[in-house]
Amino acid sequence: PVPPLKCSSIAQDNKTHAHKPIFDPHSIDPILVQKMEYDALVWSSLHGLLVGDRASQKSGRVPGVGLVHAPISLLPMPFAESYWKQACEVAPIFNELVDRVSLDSEFLQESLSRTKKVDTFTSRLLDIHAKMLAMNKKEDIRLGLHRSDYMLDEQTNLLLQIELNTISSSFPGLSCLVSDLHRNLLCQFEQHLALDPERVPKNNAVSQFAEGLYKAWIEYNDSSAVVMVVVQTEERNMYDQHWLFTVLNERYQVRSIRKTLAEIDSQGKLMPDGTLVVDGEAVAVVYFRAGYAPTDYPSESEWSARLLIEQSRAVKCPSIAYHLAGTKKIQQELAKPNQLERFLENKDDIAKVRKCFAGLWSLDDLNIVKDAIERPGLYVMKPQREGGGNNIYGDDVSIALQKMQKEGTEEDAAYILMQRIFPTVSPAILMREGVSHKDHVISELGIYATYLRNKTEVIMNGQSGYLMRTKVSSSNEGGVAAGFAVLDSIYLV
Ligand code: ADP
Ligand code: MG
Ligand code: MG
Repeated sequence: PVPPLKCSSIAQDNKTHAHKPIFDPHSIDPILVQKMEYDALVWSSLHGLLVGDRASQKSGRVPGVGLVHAPISLLPMPFAESYWKQACEVAPIFNELVDRVSLDSEFLQESLSRTKKVDTFTSRLLDIHAKMLAMNKKEDIRLGLHRSDYMLDEQTNLLLQIELNTISSSFPGLSCLVSDLHRNLLCQFEQHLALDPERVPKNNAVSQFAEGLYKAWIEYNDSSAVVMVVVQTEERNMYDQHWLFTVLNERYQVRSIRKTLAEIDSQGKLMPDGTLVVDGEAVAVVYFRAGYAPTDYPSESEWSARLLIEQSRAVKCPSIAYHLAGTKKIQQELAKPNQLERFLENKDDIAKVRKCFAGLWSLDDLNIVKDAIERPGLYVMKPQREGGGNNIYGDDVSIALQKMQKEGTEEDAAYILMQRIFPTVSPAILMREGVSHKDHVISELGIYATYLRNKTEVIMNGQSGYLMRTKVSSSNEGGVAAGFAVLDSIYLV
């Protein structure tokens, strides 16, 4: 969708006899920064690096109304090539792991059994999963569009996984544009910055995800069927989603429809052969960009829509089992000794995956709870939630743990404890709503990955682009949509 870059010949010449590359954006001449900011805003507007504007009422419902450039970092974040390679290399292994875990229904139900008692949302997901087991429902075609997130721990120099998203991994569309924007700026200002645009890795997230959806649609094998995107009623991040379905349509001529869970409940039905028909259209693939949070299920209608989808023979991205395999509780269970060995055979693969695991503990580990009460700053407490803004940090960890101990309820089963990761702090220029500010930031690298299989045949399994998210170092949470972070790309060093 974005025309290829052409660096000027001056820029090319510069590569051989350039002055020192400028890695600290705070040290760039303010006049030059202003020019770059202006160009970044123009580029974003012209190339669809956009989100709905909070200030406009209709921007979450009507496309083309109240648009604003996405929150971005002006320049890419330097990132060591070895860690980049490491993160890419484990992507297909994590894909395989998720698939294997999803097939072990007992492991999923058992690991989440205590959580189920205190967390109504997870409990409802498990109920749907249990119903599918009772029906002996099999998913032959399995599509995963994942994003595994990492932070580089400064003290240990380890690249540690924050979490693996199996549902609604956001920004495959906009992340590609940020990489393009940064390459473009490096090209245009190469004389001043002396940074090589080629060192911003090519980002193919949108084309890989579109290919995954297309190939799943092919496997389903009904040329008149559509891809259905499950959406929230209001979605200011709609352009990220539209990018994916525009590419799917333009490149593969596959049609898509957008429906909320409430609409699916009222307009959807199952045919006797299990075909899901919504609003008169047979659905080949269901892609969820909603349904990961309790607020996505305000009434019973949304839950019956989720069940209807799961019962159908449509390919689900994700299936209920994939969704559960991506919970924080499962991440923590897999980090226990000898658990990975249950799902993976290759010793090297196991070692590579384990190397990414941070400290993860269940709250029935009394020694850890005691330590977390005493040194809460070294931990993050996480519930089984997605979408950012749900974790507990710092003194609140201590307070929450002590309260639970006092009350003696099973509330603790809703959470896991995780080692707090402290990435290196770097200077950056962040841009939001046309305004820029210099700040000190930390970053989280997300690696997209696509997995598609039909029975025993693995059709796709690979790393599929990336997303860097950068936030001011004083902020705990990292969500872009939640307003904590900006979109970024990487510059390999
Ligand atoms: P969610 O599914 O809501 O995105 P995450 O596990 O990704 O949940 O946590 C949200 C944010 O909290 C992350 O993007 C990151 O900025 C921060 N965070 C999560 N875990 C850690 C950790 N172990 N150390 C430091 N920060 C963390
Ligand atoms: Mg998540
Ligand atoms: Mg996250």
